[in-house]
Amino acid sequence: MPDSHERLTSSGAPPTVGFQNLVAASPSAFAACFRCDLENRSGPNQPVPTAGRSVDLFEKCYRFEELHQVQATGLYPYFRAIAASDATEVTIQGKRLVMVGSNNYLGLTNHPEVIEAAVHAARKYGSGCTGSRFLNGTLELHEELERRLAQFLRRPACLAFSTGFQACLGVLSAIAGKDDLIFCDRDNHASIIDGTRLSFAKTIKYHHNDMADLEEKLSLAPEDKGKLIVADGVFSMLGDIVKLPKMSELAKRFGARVLLDDAHAFGVLGAHGRGTAEHFGLERETDLVMGTFSKSLASIGGFAAGEFDVIQWLKHKSRSLIFSASLPPASTAGVIAALDIIEREPQRRTALWRNAEKMRRGLQSLGFDTGLSETPVVPVVLGDREFTFRFWRALFDRGVFTNPVCSPAVPAGCDLLRTSYMATHTDAQLDFVLEQFAAVLREMGPTPRSRSGGAAIAATR
Ligand code: PMP
Repeated sequence: MPDSHERLTSSGAPPTVGFQNLVAASPSAFAACFRCDLENRSGPNQPVPTAGRSVDLFEKCYRFEELHQVQATGLYPYFRAIAASDATEVTIQGKRLVMVGSNNYLGLTNHPEVIEAAVHAARKYGSGCTGSRFLNGTLELHEELERRLAQFLRRPACLAFSTGFQACLGVLSAIAGKDDLIFCDRDNHASIIDGTRLSFAKTIKYHHNDMADLEEKLSLAPEDKGKLIVADGVFSMLGDIVKLPKMSELAKRFGARVLLDDAHAFGVLGAHGRGTAEHFGLERETDLVMGTFSKSLASIGGFAAGEFDVIQWLKHKSRSLIFSASLPPASTAGVIAALDIIEREPQRRTALWRNAEKMRRGLQSLGFDTGLSETPVVPVVLGDREFTFRFWRALFDRGVFTNPVCSPAVPAGCDLLRTSYMATHTDAQLDFVLEQFAAVLREMGPTPRSRSGGAAIAATR
């Protein structure tokens, strides 16, 4: 059996290669880049069982060639360790970069009040809860946070989870059962997709934000089935907003409930930051809202908010809540402090939107395709994976941190750099980012997508 440790240490360390050399790297390294989509659990990386021969389950790990090939080019973009951060700028291996790859929309992670609240809570309650909400892990602080969130969102009740991912898993698996139907946007976040899988309900995917397709699929569904429509409020990769007015109308007509994941909308959309439903004036029509504390709320954790009875049900049926330790005191107190700031400083949201508009317009005027973006999530659609990784690396070398997102997370040929903006980015930082995008474009030539222009993703959805 091969020694996996030896293999990794001999080829795992990214070589230090200059950008010119990277451009010359073999394109074949990208032809079969690793897949991390959950659709392909039994895909090409799985060992093929051979009759009469025992199969080693770890064989695929030792033969993870796609990963080794990309690492060997020096273009591997993931798991970059940050040594220091003041939110809008980070230091990586001694190099300063402007961070345009974070979901810290309101720039609250380094706010002194948020940090102080976290420190105070750690001193008062300790470093962790060492148990689930259901048993020994509920603090008065958790209940205070839930009351505050419910009040802020104008919902009767709220339930806090330890991550947003767990909120999606817990809510979907508890609310929809084997006799129910879930109508799910095909570009919903992975946590929603996994939640639908855990639910045992039949999941019907509709085309991205395509209400005509949703209508057709609802119209074919038996009347006597429980129905749930679930979508991101702001789509995490594409930065567009769910078409809630039409969705609400369809839900009413076909007797379905609406569940929104407002991970990227909380604190961002709506006059008060209450999210997608507030943005459209459809709070009553939206039955249940989920969200995360890991974006505008500058911490970690998640929540579901809705009717009292529904939240009571979730509290007693969500396995990801009941069988997992509760949110640590420091994080819980940090979220309450962040919420205080969101309530009293609406100007942060104004600054965020100003920055997002500046960058969307700036990138478009350089000739980049920003796809469907209409929020502070601004993808730059570049084309194929190889071009995208090279573009990412060139920006990184020039001091700009972006996130490459590749097929199958986005449609083939629409690989992109996801950029996202904060209320606290300065004009100087944003101008610097635009200058670097322009410079890399000059070096690498027009992107397949900037040549075609327009909403490339829209055309493929
Ligand atoms: N939903 C959406 C739409 C997300 O983008 C994310 C995280 N990126 C999550 C849920 C999961 O949230 P968390 O990071 O709190 O687990």
